[in-house]
Amino acid sequence: MNLIQESFQRLFPTKQFNYRAILKYNKKLGDFNANIKFLAPDLQINMNYKWKTIDREIQMGLIQTLLLKMFAKRYRIKKLSTPNINFYNNFVKKIPLLTPITKSHPVLENSFHRVNQQFFHELIDRPNLVWGTASKAKLACYNFHNDTITVSTIFQEAPEQILDYLLYHELLHKKQKYKYKNGRNYFHTKKFRQAEDLFPHKKQIERQINQIIRKHKRKPKTSSFLARISKSFK
Ligand SMILES: [Zn+2]
Repeated sequence: MNLIQESFQRLFPTKQFNYRAILKYNKKLGDFNANIKFLAPDLQINMNYKWKTIDREIQMGLIQTLLLKMFAKRYRIKKLSTPNINFYNNFVKKIPLLTPITKSHPVLENSFHRVNQQFFHELIDRPNLVWGTASKAKLACYNFHNDTITVSTIFQEAPEQILDYLLYHELLHKKQKYKYKNGRNYFHTKKFRQAEDLFPHKKQIERQINQIIRKHKRKPKTSSFLARISKSFK
């Protein structure tokens, strides 16, 4: 029996497996990423090649997590957890320990050290720290799969305090990890929000962040050159 079918039947023991299972490992997906595609009868799962050498039982937890995303509604399943899914979640939380830290940027690194000292007694290991795109929807994120904090470039010129606040939020994700319950991962738990509230002047900083977002929305790309010229004449 192949990995997909076996995962399926452990997950949904009363259901028939009427699919053509295709499992592919590739280098296109990011580290330890994976996705699922279903076009009957093909049920395809793509996994980043790093999964290939990971224990079968853990891989099955990942496959079951993807299968739940695809079939939970169809099968009217609300609550479900399996030993494999628990293995998988425990593994994902440990990926940062296995990941070599190779990427950093001095501005982000300085912010990291300030925040680590001020809020975490310097107990957090430095993750990869990179600038992303000029995203206004995703201001910053922490990716467990490659232990990386990515920050939107709209904050490249932002005051230290704002950058520190964004880093603090993402480092809290790294520290607190997440809670798996009833087939869902919970990141912004009550405990998370309480810790986040400890950042001084949080409300004021969030207002400033919204101003930065608005500023970047107003500025159409084509006129930015002109805007810069007129400013320099002031
Ligand atoms: Zn968050």
